Amino acid sequence: NTPLHELDPDVAAAVDAELHRQQSTLEMIASENFAPVAVMEAQGSVLTNKYAEGYPGRRYYGGCEHVDVAEQIAIERVKDLFGAEYANVQPHSGASANQAALFALASPGDTILGLDLAHGGHLTHGMRLNFSGKQFNVVAYHVDDAGLVDMAEVERLAKEHRPKVIIAGWSAYPRQLDFAAFRRIADEVGAYLWVDMAHFAGLVAAGLHPNPVEYADVVTSTTHKTLGGPRGGIILARKDFAKKLNSSVFPGFQGGPLEHVIAAKAVSFKVAASEEFKERQRRTVEGARILAERLTAADARAAGVDVLSGGTDVHLILVDLRASELDGQQAEDRLHEVGITVNRNAVPNDPRPPMVTSGLRIGTPALATRGFTAEDFTEVADVIAEALKPAYDAEALKTRVKALADKHPLYPGLGK
Ligand code: PLP
Repeated sequence: NTPLHELDPDVAAAVDAELHRQQSTLEMIASENFAPVAVMEAQGSVLTNKYAEGYPGRRYYGGCEHVDVAEQIAIERVKDLFGAEYANVQPHSGASANQAALFALASPGDTILGLDLAHGGHLTHGMRLNFSGKQFNVVAYHVDDAGLVDMAEVERLAKEHRPKVIIAGWSAYPRQLDFAAFRRIADEVGAYLWVDMAHFAGLVAAGLHPNPVEYADVVTSTTHKTLGGPRGGIILARKDFAKKLNSSVFPGFQGGPLEHVIAAKAVSFKVAASEEFKERQRRTVEGARILAERLTAADARAAGVDVLSGGTDVHLILVDLRASELDGQQAEDRLHEVGITVNRNAVPNDPRPPMVTSGLRIGTPALATRGFTAEDFTEVADVIAEALKPAYDAEALKTRVKALADKHPLYPGLGK
């Protein structure tokens, strides 16, 4: 029972340093969040020791009576949260959920239609080096000049290529998708509709975003982005897909489920059904709107900064730096220097290479979890706007960032 700090001071030091980084900087990577302590407690529990191949009540190992309880709670809660007939809570990650879902709906060589990676899609939606791009015949749709998904192109490509699966979902897109239009197009060409709501699942749970479960055949998600739970994946669907999806996850792609993570997912679904969670998601969306307003203001535009699609409906904005002196890498470094963590991101038809880019993706979920209000998000937005100007005072901006971090302590009981 030797504690981590005694048994392995090297790893303990890295964990401590990461806790300090999270506490002392402003986390604005759109796909990140801070899991509640209770979620981390479940994730760090003895459930990590248990093998439980199979599903609750139908396991290939003995001694599963308690993990069965936790997994069944997770299943029932997530079904209630999203109004789904079926849920699988075993995928180890978002990518694992997507792999299992895609192979349940289609076979290698079939055509799939998804949003181009460079226009905001995810690797698992058909990127060349991903399983999806290697094993399926990929056709990609794009965003138009205004930065919005081009539904006319989706329809045209669907009619031309008759895909087996149409994928609606994104990793970097600041607007809501028109699920009804995707459904209509899928029905017209006899395709399955798969929605990947990994990014916006928390907004759906809070009723701030249309619910894809009402339109799609299959919906996948991560549990650690806006949803605010442990790192992992889920699959939701209508009952008639249950058998195929269950066997695609196990034994198709996975062995023993991570029951400690599944228990942590269950805890996070309870949190996500609360009023407090809804209030947090409202601040998340409001914070992103404030960022968009501030970074399209006259002084930001004078510095060559703009926001793709002119604003946002969700938890993130895409900053367009094509007219700025700074490229995406330089802008990311500047914000890092003053204590704000974001990631650079290609803009559609980006003139710069993918490792440099001409944009930033900035998200508000983690800061909303930390308690940031509209007033705090206004201050963050102003700090970002200042940092992206040709002349900036790094020391003054660092002080403003520190004041915000101190105002909203993160994990106050943890660390020294
Ligand atoms: N789907 C979407 C839309 C994502 O943005 C991501 C992660 O960035 C994933 C799936 C994959 O999730 P994971 O990193 O847990 O595999």
